[in-house]
Amino acid sequence: MAQLDTREKLAILADAAKYDASCASSGTAKRNSRDGKGIGSTEGMGICHAYAPDGRCISLLKILLTNSCIFDCHYCINRKSSNVRRARFTADEVVRLTLSFYKRNYIEGLFLSSGIIGSSNYTMEQLVEVARSLREDHDFRGYIHLKTIPDADPELVHKAGLYADRVSINVELPTSGGLKRLAPEKSEARIEGAMGDMKSAIVETGDATKRFKSAPRFAPAGQSTQMIVGADAATDGDIVRKASTLYDRFGLRRVYYSAFSPIPDASAVLPLQRPPLMREHRLYQSDWLMRFYDYQPAEVVAAADPATGMLPLDIDPKLAWALRFREHFPVDVNRAPRERLLRVPGLGVKAVDRIVAARRWRRLRLDDVARLTVSIAKVRPFVIAEDWRPVALTDRAELKPLVAPRPKAQQMELFG
Ligand code: SF4
Repeated sequence: MAQLDTREKLAILADAAKYDASCASSGTAKRNSRDGKGIGSTEGMGICHAYAPDGRCISLLKILLTNSCIFDCHYCINRKSSNVRRARFTADEVVRLTLSFYKRNYIEGLFLSSGIIGSSNYTMEQLVEVARSLREDHDFRGYIHLKTIPDADPELVHKAGLYADRVSINVELPTSGGLKRLAPEKSEARIEGAMGDMKSAIVETGDATKRFKSAPRFAPAGQSTQMIVGADAATDGDIVRKASTLYDRFGLRRVYYSAFSPIPDASAVLPLQRPPLMREHRLYQSDWLMRFYDYQPAEVVAAADPATGMLPLDIDPKLAWALRFREHFPVDVNRAPRERLLRVPGLGVKAVDRIVAARRWRRLRLDDVARLTVSIAKVRPFVIAEDWRPVALTDRAELKPLVAPRPKAQQMELFG
């Protein structure tokens, strides 16, 4: 590996890390250094959840320890056979970079992942050493998200949880067939085994910290995972079912969906084109429906096209479900229980809660509902209000064009 200075390594290893989308940082424990002890904080300016257009989470130093790897996962730009420029940080370099970025107020924390160098255990040791040194040698109280390696010794993976706010293990692909084909050195059983161990440790230490104030914290922001979308033949239905199983079995905080992006010198087993970004967006919306709107996975899957198993791209999955199951509408905003109001396209959780609070005092008219939503045109066919009843509107075959967002006009290419 050529001798590179820190700036060159940073350019390579920050760019290599942008393919990992699982770096949002919500829900961690509050820590700060206002009492003059230590440095850093997970509060104050707060941890930013925004992503730069190229996929980087903008408030974290998001890097790989190295982009060298002994594995050869087909979809990965860092795989052994990839012809990319390689770089490697030492653990100490990552510690110094994190501290200097933090002190300049560029970042609020660190997201650290790595290709596998030497062995899974050696790599995991290096990742843990970064987090240990930040916490123990420098009393760093900012946010740390460590990507863990499922093949590493469970004790090492456990150590990662003692220093990091969040840990994540990528399931990579939604089906075991896809994983075998595209990442033959990885094993679904080992990935899920590591996630299971992590869940047990999080639950156990969570119980202990409730009873004993001094009990060590363990990954207080929980664990997350990422699935690559569009690299294999898995349908949206397969992805929704897999995500729901992962939430149930491993108590994940988040499943992230990352649209596969074609990489230079890609393997012939990969598709030539990336899936539409809208597909990734629709999957996030369906994830939202399961976590905050009480939809069962089977209901979300029922919103997909039965022939292809894919969610529509032109309308969101909640609207798709409502158009397909019109017998559940219209819903009376003055009487219906909260869970039925949550099914109304165009009404978010906040709007529903405001409706439930406001109707205790008076009967709501359509104008009242309109003030709570971005598009009353989308809501109108699906609700009954004091002064509004959609006469047979939900039965109309041509309802979709009335409620679907209009496609944005696109500039034609001059030399297309
Ligand atoms: S193990 Fe990780 S870094 Fe290595 S090739 Fe596979 S996905 Fe890429």
